[in-house]
Amino acid sequence: MKKLLFGILVSILILGGCVQDNPENEEAADDSETEEQESDVDSGATETQEGATIDDLEESYDVVVVGAGGGGMASAIEAYEAGASVAIFEKMPIVGGNTLKSSGGMNAAGTSIQEAEEVEDDPESFFEETLDGGHGENDQELLRYMTENAAEGIEWLDSMGITLGTLSYSGGMSQPRAHRPTDGSPVGGYLVDGLFDNLEERDIPVFLNSEVTRLVEDNGEVTGVEVTVDQTEDVTVNAGAVIVATGGFGANYDMITEYNSDLEGVVTTNHEGATGDGIQMIQDVGGDVVDMEYIQVHPTVHQEKSYLISESVRGSGAILVNQSGERFIDELQPRDVVSAGVQEEEGGYAYLIGDAALRERVPAVDHYDEEGLIVEADTIEDLAAEIDMDPETLASTLDAWNEAVQNEEDADHGRTTAMDYELNEGPFFASQIAPGIHHTMGGVRINTNTEVLDTDGNAIPNLYAAGETAGGVHGANRIGGNAVAEIVVFGRQAGTQAANHALGN
Ligand SMILES: Cc1cc2nc3c(=O)[nH]c(=O)nc-3n(C[C@H](O)[C@H](O)[C@H](O)COP(=O)(O)OP(=O)(O)OC[C@H]3O[C@@H](n4cnc5c(N)ncnc54)[C@H](O)[C@@H]3O)c2cc1C
Repeated sequence: MKKLLFGILVSILILGGCVQDNPENEEAADDSETEEQESDVDSGATETQEGATIDDLEESYDVVVVGAGGGGMASAIEAYEAGASVAIFEKMPIVGGNTLKSSGGMNAAGTSIQEAEEVEDDPESFFEETLDGGHGENDQELLRYMTENAAEGIEWLDSMGITLGTLSYSGGMSQPRAHRPTDGSPVGGYLVDGLFDNLEERDIPVFLNSEVTRLVEDNGEVTGVEVTVDQTEDVTVNAGAVIVATGGFGANYDMITEYNSDLEGVVTTNHEGATGDGIQMIQDVGGDVVDMEYIQVHPTVHQEKSYLISESVRGSGAILVNQSGERFIDELQPRDVVSAGVQEEEGGYAYLIGDAALRERVPAVDHYDEEGLIVEADTIEDLAAEIDMDPETLASTLDAWNEAVQNEEDADHGRTTAMDYELNEGPFFASQIAPGIHHTMGGVRINTNTEVLDTDGNAIPNLYAAGETAGGVHGANRIGGNAVAEIVVFGRQAGTQAANHALGN
């Protein structure tokens, strides 16, 4: 994990070197420890680096990208490849946003990785199962575009040295579609690191600590952005096209409670920059929004540290038990169903239970251990004692589960996926979890060309959006692994479309 952080920091410094003569690296802010604890990967979001500075800034670019998360970085690379001059503005001191925290994988169907593992899959079932998970509320054109282009996204990443070569299950998916880094590390740090390396190779400037505050408009056309560069200089930068990739609003409690007052006081897994800026700026120039009320709570969040325990833990074989030591649900149903199930249990929480073999399959568990998120014991009885659970009940729950795995039939709860491994190898581990705010499915309305639409359904000239800023593709409930698919697929599309538009192609 530290290696990943190191890689990212080194990349930033290298990139800084490409765009300025004397890049400096300031030390972490005082609250860095707290922030690192909250992050799934060592986001380093409190580290302060200098990337490009105002001296490097040009008056005008073909394409300006707002936000250096996965969606923004993918779009910048594609815009560059299409021949455009590009700059990225990022308000935080480090790139990555929520992408850096993503810990599971990227869904895709019909990939060469699946073929090599003899997984028979196709975009059609990916589409249907996602639609089902989203309760049929998904924008089907966007969803069709994503499910049909995700496999190519995996190949595109691979062509740039970012190989997602391991598979696991996500809740609601009948096939192992979540593509993860081959070494089992969290997808986010690996992806951000790889995308950043590719920005660096192309000398695409990233202006860190540079918050975009407004989209500049002239006669109904977006002509650029107003941005506070290096947290000091307010400037207007002109652009042939602007791509807004500022992520969602999962860390903006005013917006969260405006759309769902039940979520007041619920912990969030999001990075502090996920404040919905892009959505608000787009609304200010007449952009429409969709599905804003659909805010996902993820079932497995460590409450004390607002820390997500990845779905890949269940997707690789873990079970959930209540305080009585009993299973109560098919753990791999979609997130909204599992969250509701956990909330119904006594105390509104549950425990994830896994064993040493699972820990080996999902190295992120080591990281959870380092962060103090799990308890461990050599035997299942000792584990039960650690978490005040009846040892006999927990032991018989494990026996029943292992029998279900052997028989390939979960008579108690009907689980059908990630039932390949018994839980019988000590030491065993447990993590107490409960639901937390995780993803904002709503956002600005776009079409499959990623053009932002106004309230009459017309494209706002020169304005594009991609990633969690945009709404519609996930419907009422996002499937794990589909957000990274979204940022890669639509990030790429936004880059290509914006560049072609700006260049008059
Ligand atoms: C803990 C966690 C784990 C997750 N795991 C997975 C997973 O395994 N698989 C999956 O598919 N999805 C996962 N997700 C969801 C997924 O990571 C996000 O939906 C996705 O990465 C969002 O990417 P993005 O590029 O749209 O936004 P982000 O990655 O959030 O990037 C947006 C960037 O824009 C910047 N920004 C915001 N406002 C401004 C402004 N005004 N000016 C300049 N910059 C601005 C932000 O600082 C940020 O860097 C996870 C999310 C979290 C929180």
